[in-house]
Amino acid sequence: MNEYFESDGLDDAEKRIERSKARELRKSRWWQQRTASGRCYYCGRKVTFKELSMDHLVPLARGGRSTKSNLVPACKDCNNRKKSMMPLEWEEYLEQNREGKIT
Ligand SMILES: [Zn+2]
Repeated sequence: MNEYFESDGLDDAEKRIERSKARELRKSRWWQQRTASGRCYYCGRKVTFKELSMDHLVPLARGGRSTKSNLVPACKDCNNRKKSMMPLEWEEYLEQNREGKIT
């Protein structure tokens, strides 16, 4: 009966592992360099280091992993938007950002 869960995202144990991997990467030089510019990956705005959070491009709930290519710095605004939007709405939001707001 586990097959249903395996088809979509990670199970709880796997998510725990991925979250701890993300925590480790957060302390790494790689992340320091990634966030050195202070820019949000999504909207391109410059914010303070404290306001940048680590975001999974593909969420763990959708099978994403804590790999360097799947972790990006995101400002609080984008992070909240991403959580509250449907995937399609989020795509549209990114599209708008690409079309001009990024400085
Ligand atoms: Zn942002």
